[in-house]
Amino acid sequence: MELSTLVEDGQPGWTRRVFSDAYKQSRALVKTMMQVAGLAVTLDPAGNLIGKLGGGDPELPPLVVGSHSDTVSAGGRFDGMVGVVAAVEVARILAGHGGALRHPLWIVDFLGEEPNQFGISCLGSRAVTGHLTAEHLALRDETGASLGDALRTSGCRPDELASTRWPDGSLHAYLELHIEQGARLERAGRQIGVVTCIAGISRASIDIEGRADHAGTTPMDLRRDALQGAAELVLGTEVIGRVQEADEDGVATAGRLLVEPNSTNVVPARALLNVELRSVFETWLRNRSTDLETLAGRVASSRSLAVTVQWVSQGDPVPCDPRLRRILSQSAARVGTVPLELPSGASHDAAHIARIAPIAMLFIPSRDGRSHCPEEWSDPWEVTLGAKALLQAVLDVDGAAL
Ligand SMILES: [Zn+2]
Repeated sequence: MELSTLVEDGQPGWTRRVFSDAYKQSRALVKTMMQVAGLAVTLDPAGNLIGKLGGGDPELPPLVVGSHSDTVSAGGRFDGMVGVVAAVEVARILAGHGGALRHPLWIVDFLGEEPNQFGISCLGSRAVTGHLTAEHLALRDETGASLGDALRTSGCRPDELASTRWPDGSLHAYLELHIEQGARLERAGRQIGVVTCIAGISRASIDIEGRADHAGTTPMDLRRDALQGAAELVLGTEVIGRVQEADEDGVATAGRLLVEPNSTNVVPARALLNVELRSVFETWLRNRSTDLETLAGRVASSRSLAVTVQWVSQGDPVPCDPRLRRILSQSAARVGTVPLELPSGASHDAAHIARIAPIAMLFIPSRDGRSHCPEEWSDPWEVTLGAKALLQAVLDVDGAAL
């Protein structure tokens, strides 16, 4: 709640985007929380705020627990923050017991997990896995400033990114507590979720080119109306999203549409449509991508349009580590809950860390499944239970040979 008072002026909901003044203030608060908890705090070159607690055996690789404290525009108070605050609380309790762990414990507030004005998400977790590239740093926002500039002015050292890297196998494990952002837990009447897999996302940018004509004088059969083609693709996307194949499913969204010239009395000449597919099943994603391309081809030929589908990103599903999943389910049971195994439709920093370490995630319920909106809510007792389960998970994973 204290973090939620730090929001951008004049923005709706609880808005605290990466690089904003509110974000800088929030991270100063998180840093203080970490210090009060007894952690040694550093800001790495990529802008990740890391609080470290020594372990019984300093030779062992660290057990890392993290999340993020930035929000989407008009977002809520729990997405990301729950994971950061609970992790700091876990560390505070452990530090108070003389650091009860074998492994060093790192608590990480990753820089900018949500998509930003440069069109890229998960800045911090990409950087530590060596996936924040020079091309990324050269991305520009609407004012012409580059991501590299933005990082520099906010106290990061983008020229030293190589030194921020966590090598393959250098972590014992990575754990993240997060709100579900969906309604499965609520519907099942469960309080703790253990994530099976983080959905892969395929994003397509579809360019539909027709011809601008007079809306009064051009007969219907002579039109090459780009927006009508886009409309068919929008409805087709819904059909594709409903396809179930051998128990495999997913979701499809046509979320953005631009029309040119966007004028009442002109037959639309061009439409730009963004479609994304998400699933925890690789085959489903691949087959639905083909479906979308086939549909685009059909729309193009039946309406004499030029339709190009460009895949902007195609991320595979990221399974959580099976051994960690088992441990986390037992940890959740030990704090008196009956955990629900469930997939994550949203992506997380954990999906990037999975490149270099075994990962697992715990979920707590989101009221009415709402998230990325001001109504986002988890009850205080649910957050508390999540923190308890996380503490138990940290203790159990610390004691496990992975
Ligand atoms: Zn999040």
